[in-house]
Amino acid sequence: MISNQKDKQFGSTPVLDTVVIGAGFAGLYQLYKLRQLGLQTIVFEAGGDVGGTWYWNRYPGARCDVESMGYSYSFSEELEQEWVWTERYASQSEILKYARHVADRFDLKKDIRFNTRVLKATFEDNHHRWLVTTSKNETFRARFVIMALGCLSTPHSPSIPGLETFEGNCYHTGFWPHKKVDFTGQKVGVIGTGSSATQAIPLIAEQAKHLTIFQRTANFSIPAWNKPLTKEIQQQWKDNYRKLRVEAQQSSSGVINMDSDQNAADLTSSQQQKELERRWKYGGLIMWNAFADIMKNRDSNDVVSAFVHKKIREVVKDPATADLLCPRNYPLGSKRLCVDTNYYETFNKPNVTLADIKSHPIKEITATGIETSESFFKLDSIVLATGFDAMTGPMLKIDVRGSDGTLLTERWAEGPQTYLGISMAKFPNLFMITGPGSPSVLSNVLLAIEQHVDWITNCLQYMTENKFSLIEPTHEAEKNWVHHVNEVAEDTLYVHSDSWYMGANIPGKPRVFMPYVGGADKYRDICKHVSQNKYYGFSLSN
Ligand code: FAD
Ligand code: NAP
Repeated sequence: MISNQKDKQFGSTPVLDTVVIGAGFAGLYQLYKLRQLGLQTIVFEAGGDVGGTWYWNRYPGARCDVESMGYSYSFSEELEQEWVWTERYASQSEILKYARHVADRFDLKKDIRFNTRVLKATFEDNHHRWLVTTSKNETFRARFVIMALGCLSTPHSPSIPGLETFEGNCYHTGFWPHKKVDFTGQKVGVIGTGSSATQAIPLIAEQAKHLTIFQRTANFSIPAWNKPLTKEIQQQWKDNYRKLRVEAQQSSSGVINMDSDQNAADLTSSQQQKELERRWKYGGLIMWNAFADIMKNRDSNDVVSAFVHKKIREVVKDPATADLLCPRNYPLGSKRLCVDTNYYETFNKPNVTLADIKSHPIKEITATGIETSESFFKLDSIVLATGFDAMTGPMLKIDVRGSDGTLLTERWAEGPQTYLGISMAKFPNLFMITGPGSPSVLSNVLLAIEQHVDWITNCLQYMTENKFSLIEPTHEAEKNWVHHVNEVAEDTLYVHSDSWYMGANIPGKPRVFMPYVGGADKYRDICKHVSQNKYYGFSLSN
């Protein structure tokens, strides 16, 4: 066991084995595993409860886009068997309930400090410890810091002139009030048409007197066909969970029944349409993998795009609105597919207007509404569904300084530099869960989290057993990994899109494809290879 003795030279600063930052699904499972190693750990969480994403994103319609039975922890068979999901895609409130259940069941909350943001983490070369400073002006020393910050936990509010002068209510989907918001009788404007917006819009439209959607870029959205989960379906999963989890882990997306082994060109046009109809009827993310080459071959991708355009035109009655809702100029799937309930149908409602802010940009927000280059929209409430400073945002919000005073902001000035998305040269004993350079958001994130937590835990155990106290990747291993991450991305259509995967949604952010697109299954094998070869690419010392 790694020592947790207090050391005189540290004075009154508490000394821990491990600090974990974040109490979403990553932080919770990491705490559970560190306890098994006997490591004294504190988790710091900026929010007031566990759940992370599901604590913050309480907007109407928020739910998962990976089916609930698969979007759940696999580490405990008892947990798998006892928990009952009620819908094919669980709602935010049910997922939050699940996170709370996990925290209570494994008695995790006693080691979590809520409403506490970590502001600074500095590696002390002389002590080989991390000095962690929180928003409560406390400091802690720890041998290890584990960043469980989430990829989508830093909401992004665009700097639209006059936003702060708006006198109505303004909400961000990623920072939604805990009290129910009632839009009844209101004129509401939603800015954005990504996953959050496509889920929220149909429900806001049911309440609002009038809803205007300000669309800059149309997104591809696939119906979820959400429905209650029958006892029979639950039981089928529960009887076969081990097999299904392995299948998910061995797939490129972490989701069963998604991958395809046929290129579009292997099929006739009518076979292609049949397969696309099948996927559309099934619903959800499986359209993303309709053909094996969909993210590599633009012709193959265009077949799927045209199919979705056709579906949009079938649903949306006004041809001009339908036309505006058809995404163009980027490949389907290069921005995350949206999964919705009645999104396109909502545009047939008499109280819904689509404002094209690509052609007529927002000029300013005034005290009473939104002024575009064409019209003024008087509003009572504005909903910013404008996304996140994804993947690197949460790390860069913390003042992280590695050995020799190396600043994270400088190391990542041209884009994230990591080894395996787990660690960084010059930042010893610091690990990231689902960090940039790992598949994370391109897969079922819960399985990606479990894989990282298990890997990190095994690594700490290896260090203990072999009496190593320091670990960090070599510059060479990091450089090679960054090169590999870029190389596989360049070979895909992902890089032909202004997506948040590319950092393109944040003005001034380096344009680099951040997740690892080589497949969650292949990535898993690479990580295994590294650990089985005495942590190949890492330098370990006493
Ligand atoms: P998070 O849940 O983001 O938790 C990180 C926590 O760290 C947060 O609570 C945050 O407050 C805290 N934190 C960050 N910085 C600090 C700091 N400096 N100090 C203290 N605390 C800090 N993925 C899927 O695979 N399937 C889905 O269906 C899916 N749906 C999603 C829906 C929405 C609306 C969003 C936004 C994301 C969705 N995702 C989905 C991705 C989702 O983020 C992950 O599935 C998963 O919940 C991430 O867990 P996490 O613990 O890694 O991060
Ligand atoms: P997003 O996908 O980044 O969408 C943000 C939207 O806001 C885009 O339409 C964007 O337009 C628009 N926007 C941003 N800045 C703007 C500005 N200044 N003016 C006008 N429009 C602006 O964010 P998100 O919808 O919150 O989703 C982020 C990710 O979270 C998803 O991709 C997904 O991974 C996850 N998520 C999942 C679910 C789910 O179904 N389970 C739900 C919500 C979120 P442009 O495209 O033109 O930039």
